[in-house]
Amino acid sequence: MPDKDVDLFVIGAGSGGVRAARIASSYGARVTVAEEYRVGGTCVIRGCVPKKLLVYASRFSHEFEDAAGFGWHVPVEPTFSWPTLIANKDREIDRLEAAYVSTLERFKVNLVRSRAVLEDPHTVRLADGSRVRAETILIATGGWPHMGPKIPGVEHAISSNEALDLTELPKRVVVQGGGYIAVEFACIFAGLGSEVTLVYRGENILRGFDDDVREHLRNEMRSRGITIVCGHTVTAIDHAGDEYVTHLSDGSKVAADKVMFAIGRRPNTMGLGIEALNVRIHEHGGIEVDDYSRTSVPNIYAVGDVTNRINLTPVAIREGHAFADTLYGGKPTRVDHRDVPTAVFSEPELGVIGLTEAEARERLDVVDVYKTSFRPMKATLSGRATRVFMKLLVDGVSGRVVGCHIAGPDAGELIQLIGIAVKMGATKADFDATMAVHPTMAEELVTMREKAASYNRAAAAE
Ligand code: FAD
Ligand code: NDP
Repeated sequence: MPDKDVDLFVIGAGSGGVRAARIASSYGARVTVAEEYRVGGTCVIRGCVPKKLLVYASRFSHEFEDAAGFGWHVPVEPTFSWPTLIANKDREIDRLEAAYVSTLERFKVNLVRSRAVLEDPHTVRLADGSRVRAETILIATGGWPHMGPKIPGVEHAISSNEALDLTELPKRVVVQGGGYIAVEFACIFAGLGSEVTLVYRGENILRGFDDDVREHLRNEMRSRGITIVCGHTVTAIDHAGDEYVTHLSDGSKVAADKVMFAIGRRPNTMGLGIEALNVRIHEHGGIEVDDYSRTSVPNIYAVGDVTNRINLTPVAIREGHAFADTLYGGKPTRVDHRDVPTAVFSEPELGVIGLTEAEARERLDVVDVYKTSFRPMKATLSGRATRVFMKLLVDGVSGRVVGCHIAGPDAGELIQLIGIAVKMGATKADFDATMAVHPTMAEELVTMREKAASYNRAAAAE
């Protein structure tokens, strides 16, 4: 397009934006991507990656304790240095950011380190006032922590952004929220030795997950010393001396060195100039898009967290890739958002795919439930009071496995593989026909024979 500077302008160099930019460029498009902070986006800079490094760090405390039952004697009390962990984590994030930048260079994507906003459907304005004319625009601006209603003292609360960069490990932490981030950070801080209180407004943490798994994880977290307060919210935070006093809705108070809110994230749609262009916003707050990530303005597309579909890195990447295949590769591609496997990197870890028991009972005529809870072999000698939980939900008519829920070590790794089977439409008979690997935890997934329950809608209606 002669009157355009580029074929594609991508706003945001995070998971979705970087993938879309490099694939579009590989098909021959002239691509510019703008990033206002650091290349790599939330996942690399202040999400999945630094979080998982902290998760690894937090699990060593158990390993030291568990080793004794296997004959190991750790002669001195292990000590932990938060500044060392954070410095090493920062070095790894710098390395990854540089790798992302060099990937963009290799794919001949022009990177502009600037905030970008839309002036009209084809014009992007950069922070220095310069303008770029683009045939197509992709909004991949991600999301941002939401800090909730303006309660007194909310300015004292930190989000996951700051939690990853604290100068010292807080001795006492209050975490508000019951979703992925709250649960993961509560476990990280507890594993590193902090005294943790988790405050959640609902009945039980991880709403939307299978009820048995929620109950199991809550019990396991409590057994690791985390105080979980359900049915309440933080109503105020006072700052007195070095400590914060958190007021809860039941009138109680909890003193802490840090108060963290993890009460959801909001799509980054504000101040982008999209309101004036009539880019429609969905009622869930994300940019509304069709199956090909096209917004209500035909040459503007959006992928990733800013669309608030499923806010996970692999989903943003897949959406970015599908966008580039569709527009520049001659391969119209829709992303399949069904049966997306996911993990919560709590302690113990959760791995989940497909329907919960409640969803299966609502949607299917016949549901067979298989579940097991057992003491993992490692816990026999370590003496740790922990159990593994696994559940399979089966469509009683077709025999297909429609849900799998695991709480236990490496559940994230396991669910990645179970995800392939579920996505392929494997039946319970296929699981049963698969030989067990012994001795593993995962063998339980192919040896569960007795139904824990079976629900038949027709029979129940009689
Ligand atoms: P982002 O990666 O957020 O990228 C958006 C980019 O756009 C940012 O770099 C931002 O600076 C930039 N930007 C915004 N506005 C502008 C503008 N106007 N101009 C220029 N640049 C702009 N997901 C998982 O799958 N697994 C996990 O374990 C996991 N852990 C997480 C842990 C935490 C603490 C958090 C917060 C998230 C986690 N996620 C995880 C979610 C995951 O990080 C996101 O789903 C993913 O990063 C979304 O990618 P994205 O491309 O949509 O946006
Ligand atoms: P979530 O949406 O997962 O959880 C938000 C939590 O905050 C819920 O428990 C919610 O309660 C509660 N909440 C919402 N509003 C309020 C309020 N005003 N007062 C008190 N509590 C409130 O968001 P997160 O911030 O934990 O994470 C954002 C997203 O990032 C996740 O949904 C996930 O997509 C992604 N992520 C993925 C990870 C992974 O893959 N391992 C790890 C971290 C993040 P209720 O349930 O009652 O609504």
